Amino acid sequence: MPIKPTEKEEEYFVRMDFERKKRIEMEQQEKLAAKEKERLKELHYMKCPKCGMNLVEIEYRSIKVDRCSACEGLWLDKGELKAMTDLDKSFLDKLYSAFRAET
Ligand SMILES: [Zn+2]
Repeated sequence: MPIKPTEKEEEYFVRMDFERKKRIEMEQQEKLAAKEKERLKELHYMKCPKCGMNLVEIEYRSIKVDRCSACEGLWLDKGELKAMTDLDKSFLDKLYSAFRAET
Protein backbone atom coordinates (compact mmCIF):
# COMPACT_ATOMS: atom_id res chain seq x y z
CA MET A 1 0.00 0.00 0.00
CA PRO A 2 1.62 3.26 -1.09
CA ILE A 3 1.96 5.93 1.50
CA LYS A 4 0.26 9.17 0.61
CA PRO A 5 2.36 12.32 1.03
CA THR A 6 -0.10 13.67 3.61
CA GLU A 7 0.43 10.60 5.82
CA LYS A 8 4.17 11.13 5.67
CA GLU A 9 3.65 14.75 6.54
CA GLU A 10 1.44 13.82 9.47
CA GLU A 11 4.04 11.34 10.71
CA TYR A 12 6.66 14.08 10.47
CA PHE A 13 4.60 16.50 12.52
CA VAL A 14 3.83 13.87 15.16
CA ARG A 15 7.52 13.12 15.45
CA MET A 16 8.38 16.84 15.65
CA ASP A 17 5.72 17.32 18.31
CA PHE A 18 7.13 14.42 20.30
CA GLU A 19 10.68 15.79 20.01
CA ARG A 20 9.51 19.20 21.19
CA LYS A 21 7.63 17.76 24.19
CA LYS A 22 10.56 15.49 25.00
CA ARG A 23 12.90 18.50 24.99
CA ILE A 24 10.60 20.42 27.34
CA GLU A 25 10.42 17.40 29.63
CA MET A 26 14.20 17.02 29.65
CA GLU A 27 14.64 20.68 30.49
CA GLN A 28 12.17 20.17 33.32
CA GLN A 29 14.17 17.20 34.60
CA GLU A 30 17.41 19.19 34.43
CA LYS A 31 15.78 21.96 36.46
CA LEU A 32 14.62 19.40 39.02
CA ALA A 33 18.10 17.90 39.20
CA ALA A 34 19.62 21.34 39.74
CA LYS A 35 17.00 22.09 42.41
CA GLU A 36 17.67 18.78 44.12
CA LYS A 37 21.40 19.46 44.05
CA GLU A 38 20.76 22.87 45.62
CA ARG A 39 18.47 21.33 48.24
CA LEU A 40 21.06 18.68 49.17
CA LYS A 41 23.79 21.30 49.41
CA GLU A 42 21.64 23.41 51.71
CA LEU A 43 20.85 20.35 53.80
CA HIS A 44 24.43 19.07 54.10
CA TYR A 45 26.57 22.19 53.98
CA MET A 46 28.88 22.31 57.00
CA LYS A 47 27.36 19.13 58.42
CA CYS A 48 29.55 16.22 59.49
CA PRO A 49 29.45 13.44 56.87
CA LYS A 50 29.56 10.85 59.65
CA CYS A 51 27.16 12.04 62.32
CA GLY A 52 25.33 14.93 60.63
CA MET A 53 26.06 17.51 63.33
CA ASN A 54 27.39 21.01 62.64
CA LEU A 55 30.98 21.50 61.57
CA VAL A 56 32.92 24.46 62.89
CA GLU A 57 35.76 26.01 60.97
CA ILE A 58 39.07 26.22 62.77
CA GLU A 59 41.94 28.15 61.28
CA TYR A 60 45.47 27.39 62.29
CA ARG A 61 47.91 29.68 60.48
CA SER A 62 46.84 29.42 56.87
CA ILE A 63 45.10 26.07 57.12
CA LYS A 64 41.38 25.95 57.69
CA VAL A 65 39.87 22.67 58.77
CA ASP A 66 36.28 21.80 59.54
CA ARG A 67 35.81 20.05 62.83
CA CYS A 68 32.68 18.28 63.93
CA SER A 69 31.13 19.80 67.05
CA ALA A 70 29.90 16.34 68.12
CA CYS A 71 32.22 13.50 67.06
CA GLU A 72 35.26 15.82 66.67
CA GLY A 73 36.21 14.43 63.30
CA LEU A 74 38.34 16.70 61.14
CA TRP A 75 37.44 17.35 57.52
CA LEU A 76 39.68 18.86 54.94
CA ASP A 77 38.77 20.79 51.81
CA LYS A 78 40.48 20.32 48.49
CA GLY A 79 44.18 21.12 48.72
CA GLU A 80 44.30 21.18 52.52
CA LEU A 81 45.74 17.69 52.90
CA LYS A 82 48.52 18.65 50.50
CA ALA A 83 49.07 21.88 52.46
CA MET A 84 49.36 19.84 55.65
CA THR A 85 51.77 17.31 54.22
CA ASP A 86 53.93 20.19 53.02
CA LEU A 87 54.34 21.35 56.61
CA ASP A 88 57.20 20.13 58.74
CA LYS A 89 56.73 17.63 61.55
CA SER A 90 56.97 20.16 64.41
CA PHE A 91 54.29 22.30 62.82
CA LEU A 92 52.06 19.23 62.52
CA ASP A 93 52.65 18.44 66.22
CA LYS A 94 51.56 21.98 67.16
CA LEU A 95 48.56 21.66 64.91
CA TYR A 96 47.71 18.36 66.49
CA SER A 97 47.91 19.70 70.05
CA ALA A 98 45.82 22.71 69.06
CA PHE A 99 43.06 20.45 67.75
CA ARG A 100 43.36 17.66 70.29
CA ALA A 101 40.23 16.93 72.23
CA GLU A 102 40.30 17.67 75.92
CA THR A 103 39.99 14.40 77.77
ZN1 LIG B 1 30.50 14.18 63.46
